[in-house]
Amino acid sequence: MFIRKTIALTFFTVLCASAFAQTLQPTVWATKPDIPGFEKMVNDRLAAAQSAIDQVTSVKGARTIENTLAPYDEAVRNINSAQYLASLVESVHPESAFRDHATEMVRKVSAVQTALSLNREVYQALAGLDISKADAPTGYYVKRQLLEFRLAGVDKDDATRTQLKKLNDELTDEQSTFERNISDDQKKVEVTDPKQLDGLPQDYIDRHKAGADGKIYITTNYPDALPAMKFSTSDEFRQRVFLAFQTRAYPKNKEVLERMMATRYRIASLLGYSSWADYNAADKMIRSGSNIADFIQKVDGAARPIAQREVAMLLAEKHKTNPDAKEIGDYENSYLSELVRRSQFNFDSQLVRPYLPFNEVRQGILDTAATLFHVTFSREENVPAWDPAVETWDVMDAGKMVGRFYLDMHPRPGKFTHAEMSPVLDGIRGKQLPEAILICNFPKPTADDPGLMEYGDVVTFFHEFGHLVHWILGGQQQWAGISGITMEGDFVEAPSQMLEEWMHSPQVLASFAKHYKTGEAIPAELVARMNRASAFGRGLSISQQDEYTAISYDIYKAKPDVIDPDEVTLSDEHRYTPFTPLPETHMYAAFGHLAGYSSAYYTYLWDKVIAEDFFGQFDHGNLLAGATPMRYRRTVLEPGGSVSANDLVHNFLGREQNMNAFQKWMGEEFEQTSASGTGN
Ligand SMILES: [Zn+2]
Repeated sequence: MFIRKTIALTFFTVLCASAFAQTLQPTVWATKPDIPGFEKMVNDRLAAAQSAIDQVTSVKGARTIENTLAPYDEAVRNINSAQYLASLVESVHPESAFRDHATEMVRKVSAVQTALSLNREVYQALAGLDISKADAPTGYYVKRQLLEFRLAGVDKDDATRTQLKKLNDELTDEQSTFERNISDDQKKVEVTDPKQLDGLPQDYIDRHKAGADGKIYITTNYPDALPAMKFSTSDEFRQRVFLAFQTRAYPKNKEVLERMMATRYRIASLLGYSSWADYNAADKMIRSGSNIADFIQKVDGAARPIAQREVAMLLAEKHKTNPDAKEIGDYENSYLSELVRRSQFNFDSQLVRPYLPFNEVRQGILDTAATLFHVTFSREENVPAWDPAVETWDVMDAGKMVGRFYLDMHPRPGKFTHAEMSPVLDGIRGKQLPEAILICNFPKPTADDPGLMEYGDVVTFFHEFGHLVHWILGGQQQWAGISGITMEGDFVEAPSQMLEEWMHSPQVLASFAKHYKTGEAIPAELVARMNRASAFGRGLSISQQDEYTAISYDIYKAKPDVIDPDEVTLSDEHRYTPFTPLPETHMYAAFGHLAGYSSAYYTYLWDKVIAEDFFGQFDHGNLLAGATPMRYRRTVLEPGGSVSANDLVHNFLGREQNMNAFQKWMGEEFEQTSASGTGN
């Protein structure tokens, strides 16, 4: 779903060039660190960063790339390593006491980052560099760092800087609390009548047996709650699950969110911006808050006609059992959309699940990515990790190892509940290989359960894997600070959103989606029907994304004392979607992106527009063939953060992105249905 750039774990494979050809032996989990051991590892990284900073500030005489930028980048690398480790442990460690300590360490690292961003001596050192003769990536790196320093307030007076530091520490604390409240609040909904499970897949029902108290519960975890809201034939039950799901972390997070809004507003004000949204946009592709507002309206204009046609189809479906119905509740969208897909498109998503057992999908995702990006993956056995289910893989390019990744794919109590790629190590050419991890929550196969996946999970898997490949291929830079993914946060989703299209290709799917009992490859005709059916709902889904985008912007667009999160949520749902909100829900409380992305949730739609434009460049007859995949790898992925995102887009497309391909993609269902004569 999304990437938290500020997260993850490092195994401290401290590498040198000569070690590259050898098998890597991660050292951190090999020692099975206890809590003090883990804290020492983070502290050691921070101490190394401090000594590199001391080196920067103690230079006498002329500043050079070698005596200033090199130790600065070493500090960046060490702080990143500390942060990746602390954040990953916070997200995945099986022991709650361990996670609590990790939360403390996340705060500590963040305070160090804030202090560095306000360190005037370091700023002046970088500003004193002559970059006129530096290579282009180095020059870009320095300019970008100077911009970030100014946005942090480094050129403000001492009192202001002290205040900014305090506010940023508070913000870190608030963000962390907001996210933890969401993952800690697992609600349970009682199944009061077994009929409430009617419509759900048999393997789902089999997994939900009555406990010691004789009762069956459905939790608000994704693998539990999403199928219940999509398939249960009981309207009353779906309402209860939706209500529980949309009140996670409420009321706790209302107060936390309001504190976050106030803190962010004060930071923006001190730095001379009229809102957090404006301030937060200043170093991104979109540039300003008003451009976000314009973009929301543009998307609304494009999506509305299609969403209206779709909601009319949902209403027609609802009339079959409720002839007087006048409206569609938000909680019914998933269920009714599924019914429309079955009745209008002769498609039942459960027909696809038997072709999607987890292990085969996992291998298929790896094989597809390997072919597309011209790399190979090899499994490293017996690498210790925080959980026995975690797998380790090496990435090879033309026979040379270029990175490593970890797969932590199944739910555990207390684990991060979404799907994401987290960096583990920055790549530095000739010095350190890039590493990353996927943290997901897909069904776990067992001896008598193949772990059948929802098709949407497969798409998510490839999406997240795309972030990971981007991190590795972009992680071959000269500096840690420009390694991996572009520094403009509103570009990071474009490559992964584009890759989702590969999971719609009958050819690609048939290469790995095999029936778990018969081994038969998924029929092309079924995929074609699935694609027609999945094109249904794009207008509605984009209008919902536009609603979330508007919430994220409206929460942070002005002075917070005039903004009530409940009012914003309700009015944006009314304004951008055709659904009737279920009363007493408070979705913002579990809208984790309000912490990390804050006002930048527009990124998903912004990048979807770019993604469809990119996708238009590939050979749709054979997505894995031709020269385009390699040209894409070279021009978009490999530069990492060494050029601006606008340049990446321009270098690949030969022009700026536009909305044409995106609009065409949204309306595809009606083109297809009228062409095949099955629409209405
Ligand atoms: Zn993503």
